Amino acid sequence: MPTKQNFAIFLDFDNTLIDNDSLKDIISSRIHAMCGDDVNRQFWDAYERARLVNNVVDIPLAFHYMRHELTDETAHNLWDAFWDAPYSSAIFPGTLEMLQELRQRYAFVGVVSDGDAVYQPHKIDRSGVTRALDGLIKVFLHKQDHMDELLRWAAANAYVMVDDKPDILADFKQILPMMFVTAHVRQGHYANSPRAIEPDVSLDAITDLLHVDIVELVDRARRNSQQSKV
Ligand SMILES: [Mg+2]
Repeated sequence: MPTKQNFAIFLDFDNTLIDNDSLKDIISSRIHAMCGDDVNRQFWDAYERARLVNNVVDIPLAFHYMRHELTDETAHNLWDAFWDAPYSSAIFPGTLEMLQELRQRYAFVGVVSDGDAVYQPHKIDRSGVTRALDGLIKVFLHKQDHMDELLRWAAANAYVMVDDKPDILADFKQILPMMFVTAHVRQGHYANSPRAIEPDVSLDAITDLLHVDIVELVDRARRNSQQSKV
């Protein structure tokens, strides 16, 4: 068996591995069908309110905001509409196969996602990604606050952060530029967001990661970081 390259690949989840914008449309249709238009509208208002609290999607908190306004039956249906949505059908095409290939090539492949501690792991699990990665999943409120933990999680020569949000990548690059190499995947509504720091590579689709020469990318990223320090 060929030796795996000693890199860690940290993949974001929403709009990186799963088409979250489409998934929200699917869930909205389910809530509409199961609970009606008023509840659907109220839910997404609560979703935005909850998101503003910690600047991260927090589904249990959104439900908490809604609960006192709903009958028991409607609350149950609303939870079902969310909990049992068809997550695996929203995974970007070729993603699970890509994960298998990445695991053949590199020493460590895991998901590092932002979200609440209840719904987000459930969503990743139901999508099939938890099984595909043997449970190598981390969910934080803000991954930028856990850089040291991520470095301890996987021993590697370099860490490739793959994310659809340029701001997150910029934070990693700014704080530990020699450790983290950044790959911006231009999927979802952040695809053309302004970038405070240019990512080391941009991908039009997540499966393009398979065509990136990671050795060359890490070398180039480190040279650029050295030069910008001089
Ligand atoms: Mg994302």
